[in-house]
Amino acid sequence: MSGGKIMLVGIGPGNYSHMTHRACEAIAEADVVVGYVTYIKLVADLLEGKEVIRKGMTEELDRAVHALERARAGKKVALISSGDAGVYGMAGPTYEVLFQAGWTPETDVEVEVIPGASAINACAALVGAPLTHDFCSISLSDLLTPWPVIARRLDAVAAADFVVALYNPKSGRRTQQIVQAQQLFLRHRRPDTPVVVVKSAYRRRQNIEFTTLDKMSECDIGMLSTVLIGNSHTFVRHGLMVTPRGYANKYALDGDGSAHAGEKRGRSLSTGLLGWTENLRIDHAEGESIAALAQRHSLPADYIEMVLNAPIEDAAVTADESEE
Ligand code: SAH
Repeated sequence: MSGGKIMLVGIGPGNYSHMTHRACEAIAEADVVVGYVTYIKLVADLLEGKEVIRKGMTEELDRAVHALERARAGKKVALISSGDAGVYGMAGPTYEVLFQAGWTPETDVEVEVIPGASAINACAALVGAPLTHDFCSISLSDLLTPWPVIARRLDAVAAADFVVALYNPKSGRRTQQIVQAQQLFLRHRRPDTPVVVVKSAYRRRQNIEFTTLDKMSECDIGMLSTVLIGNSHTFVRHGLMVTPRGYANKYALDGDGSAHAGEKRGRSLSTGLLGWTENLRIDHAEGESIAALAQRHSLPADYIEMVLNAPIEDAAVTADESEE
């Protein structure tokens, strides 16, 4: 046993109060701290007495190789990433380098990934509650991903009505990706869909700009910005971006908070899987074709057919689920 260790430390968006306790501990434990210059600066106060290896932006594999060398020599190495190390960060490339070098979890070097608040969490928190329904992230960086792959994903999630966070939206050299992302989104979403551009969240030059989908690409967007695009229900009120969780589908939000007719607290919606399936069967029995049902629900015909043919299950009544 070398006793060496690699810790992949997500340090959060960029100030101490948003770094986890374990991330601070990991840096304190480390003999060697490796990271991009900017992040090394962010944790400067924690580095006394440690070997510090500052690397440039494009030397990611180098950083991982370095870390492995030191760990094999018995050192504890902290590789620091902004946000979460596993979100467009060092965790992936490090495991790839380790596997390449014949490392397995049983061998001499221990590896720990320490989670951090990713840019999406930080930016969302600053602008209200934009992620309270299904969301996803897409990086617009075509440095390692072919553009058609990125464009297909943009098109798919725009159509599927996800709230989307765009990472790496624009740089000095990559200026058209955000324009094309906007064009792809406008094919599926309203021009007035709320958008917010958050730059340097929780850092000194933090800047927040609310806009709409049709004006998004005119904003001041850079390497340190994340762009949040709302779904078709997202709204902005009093300078806060909010995506409804769906309570209004079920309950009266003004008045006494009672459930709407046909809905029950703790049970799936009447348009949940069970209720929807029942209605689908009725509509089909009354003559609506599979093709027509597929079109009305924007679902594949073979899926509709599968649902119609599935055995009817007893709706076993189980304990109420929490809606939180
Ligand atoms: N591992 C990081 C992401 C690295 S990719 C994380 O989990 O957050 C770099 C991209 O992250 C930037 O281009 C930007 O889109 C986003 N980002 C990172 N820090 C940010 C911050 N403080 N404010 C806004 N966006 C940020």
